[in-house]
Amino acid sequence: MKKLILFLMVPILFVACTGNGESKSVTPSVEDFEYKVDTFADIKILRYRVPGFENLTLKQKELIYYLSQAAIEGRDILWDQNNKYNLAIRRTLEAVYQNIDDKTSENYKKLEKYLKQIWMANGIHHHYSEDKIMPEFSADFFADAVKSIDAALLPLSEGETPEQLIATLSPIIFDPNVMPKKSNQATGVDLITTSANNYYEGVTQKEVEDFYAKMKNPNDSTPISYGLNSKLTKENGEVVEKVYKIGGMYSAALERIVGWLEKAVNVAENDTQKDIINTLISYYKSGDLKTFDEFNIKWVQDLTSKIDFVNGFTETYGDPLGIKASWESLINFKDMEATKRTEIISNNAQWFEDNSPIDDKFKKEAVKGVSAKVITAAMLGGDTYPSTPIGINLPNANWIRVKYGSKSVTIQNITEAYAQSSMGSGFNEEFMWSDVERELAKKYGSLTSDLHVDLHECLGHGSGKILPGTDPDALKAYGSPIEETRADLFGLYYLGDPKMVELGLLPDNEAYKAQYYHYLMNGLMTQLTRIQPGKNIEQAHMRNRQLIASWVFEKGKVENVVEMKEKDGKKFIVVNDYEKLRELFGQLLAEIQRIRSTGDFEAARDLVERYAVQVNQDLHKEVLERYAKLKIAPYSGFVNPVYTLVTDKKGNVKDVKISYDEGYVEQHLRYSKDYSVLPTYN
Ligand code: ZN
Repeated sequence: MKKLILFLMVPILFVACTGNGESKSVTPSVEDFEYKVDTFADIKILRYRVPGFENLTLKQKELIYYLSQAAIEGRDILWDQNNKYNLAIRRTLEAVYQNIDDKTSENYKKLEKYLKQIWMANGIHHHYSEDKIMPEFSADFFADAVKSIDAALLPLSEGETPEQLIATLSPIIFDPNVMPKKSNQATGVDLITTSANNYYEGVTQKEVEDFYAKMKNPNDSTPISYGLNSKLTKENGEVVEKVYKIGGMYSAALERIVGWLEKAVNVAENDTQKDIINTLISYYKSGDLKTFDEFNIKWVQDLTSKIDFVNGFTETYGDPLGIKASWESLINFKDMEATKRTEIISNNAQWFEDNSPIDDKFKKEAVKGVSAKVITAAMLGGDTYPSTPIGINLPNANWIRVKYGSKSVTIQNITEAYAQSSMGSGFNEEFMWSDVERELAKKYGSLTSDLHVDLHECLGHGSGKILPGTDPDALKAYGSPIEETRADLFGLYYLGDPKMVELGLLPDNEAYKAQYYHYLMNGLMTQLTRIQPGKNIEQAHMRNRQLIASWVFEKGKVENVVEMKEKDGKKFIVVNDYEKLRELFGQLLAEIQRIRSTGDFEAARDLVERYAVQVNQDLHKEVLERYAKLKIAPYSGFVNPVYTLVTDKKGNVKDVKISYDEGYVEQHLRYSKDYSVLPTYN
């Protein structure tokens, strides 16, 4: 009963529906959507659209609503996992931020910046570098500010005074030598005692390793993920696991999560999905990792439900030993439009193969395309928020992957937000030749880039055949860049084919030019922003892009297909003839396919070494300087949309509204107020 009472205290955003004149909400168009939310330090905050939400059934929307609430409830678990003092620091600073008298001082602005940084990192260590974030305000300001507000607003332990709280937190916040790294990967030191995360306390690396070595049975072909959902610590000198479960560690937050999951079960799409959610609930109640495996096996086999989710202790990147998992969630639904795109491509796989510009003897008689699932994220939580991946591939247990497969998805609306937000960054203004190219990019950039990826993945890699008797590894180290070159060229060649418009994949015969221009600009110039001065290109995809771009550049010189022009002392790529450019892509594809089909090692080596590896030092220097001037924040985070239940007078759910107007600060303060039930120290 206690659980139920706790759960009823959860604030639910109910909106009473008064009139009948409700209008169906429509997702704002890409042009009308404000992707950028905030910028600070090395971070920019974006928002993402959830196109297609309005077309879901009421039940599906409700399901997303409940799963989304569960996703937000796990936020504090991650904060505490990242560092023992994170919740105390956040709660103290948020109290100061909202209640201090003087909200105009320099120190206050610096405190706001620091708060924004730790919200982004789910704690005091940078989300990417894992180094402690150093605040710009002073320890004196912090102490005075904490003392200036009502002590009742502070996260004081029983009997603790504000002065004691200040004394505890000050070294953690201000001393660069205290807990400097969240997860230490350096060699030669004790990785556990030198890491600031809260997965372990009072134990050494050796004690951890011994503890888990004893548990494991080398003959077990279906091992559980030992230690995944617990903190390892000492009680009375004994090493013990504190398991994350209801009644165990993080119980209060897990009870809330389960409360929402129980509501989700009632509106699940089908019995399979009900069973999946129920299995997850049992796992949270027992903490039994065998049940977690059961859940994963069921989850990975469900390919029919439209709505899908990740919810749990999942990835182990935060633990230097890769044992303990951070809590994360991602609620999503299948992007029918984009998945349709991959289906159209796959269904026409044979046509593409038959019409490819390669020699007939290298073509496959029967080719099968692969359709990939494309999803729309509806809510990010825990370790996928605010920083989020653009694709996921789960589950992690190797034996489950081998036996039951894995789900691999791309998150289209997150990719879109990245692409669209970079539009206003000044990047295209700096590196594109004229407004013509910039207009093409704006109008068709996202679509043609997605389509290129689809063609690359669904058809490119699967097309063509290796001649009988040819060693598939004949190209050795050049095999990987050559293979990527082949798949990319396949995509490039067909992007410019009238068949794309005929199949409804592109709106007109101009669209492909956006990707052609971008590809050459990137391959010849702008991808160099990711290379250190003086270094050559190592990465296979970067090699393949430069190979293609510099090959067509050189071969097209006679007819002036592509040229490099100068304006105001800066270099630019100019494409003079897109149709000829397509022919050149076709010619190179034919040659690359020949190399691959016959295992021509020398030709592969010559092409890669000549076109793909060396960097033009002067051009590189210029590109780096121009890029640095744009001051583009290297990291992005997201705010979530806000979902609201619309109910009638009797409390029946009539609709779920989505809105995109919540700011970054507002969102974090709201989450901290409404979804924060864990004790300050766990
Ligand atoms: Zn590839």
